[in-house]
Amino acid sequence: MGYDNIKMDRQKRIALIAHDNMKKELIDWVIKNKVALSKHFLCGTGTTAKIIAETINLPVKAYKSGPMGGDQQIGARISEGKIDMMIFFWDPLEAQPHDPDVKALLRIAVLYDIPVANNMSTADFLLESKLMDEEYERHVVDYQDFINKRAKDFLK
Ligand code: PGA
Repeated sequence: MGYDNIKMDRQKRIALIAHDNMKKELIDWVIKNKVALSKHFLCGTGTTAKIIAETINLPVKAYKSGPMGGDQQIGARISEGKIDMMIFFWDPLEAQPHDPDVKALLRIAVLYDIPVANNMSTADFLLESKLMDEEYERHVVDYQDFINKRAKDFLK
């Protein structure tokens, strides 16, 4: 299967998500990195987005809360090429009611080759990357040939 390139601009569209036990960690990280983050477009799941927007006084587009479908909305935006990067502090010590959605979101993020940080040190390394201020081409599997072939076989 071939690859399709999806261009990321210098200004990245970053999704921020944290489970309840991880929210303080994410907020502390966001406060520490406010200046760097202010150069980018931010969005997140409902509660996380609202807390971040009010804490650092930057616009953060809010999707639905995670348990109410927010993870799925963000996954859909990734699949549409509308989110470039994700900082997602999921809780490694407690199960969530929407664990299947979390798994689906992490899968979509890998499939669409977006950079993902699931803990603070990875988030630090990501934000420090020189690529944060450059354009970048992600490599996404080109599925269209496969769809065409399957549809053709089916319609035979
Ligand atoms: P929340 O959702 O930001 O609304 O808390 C996050 C999550 O639980 O996935």
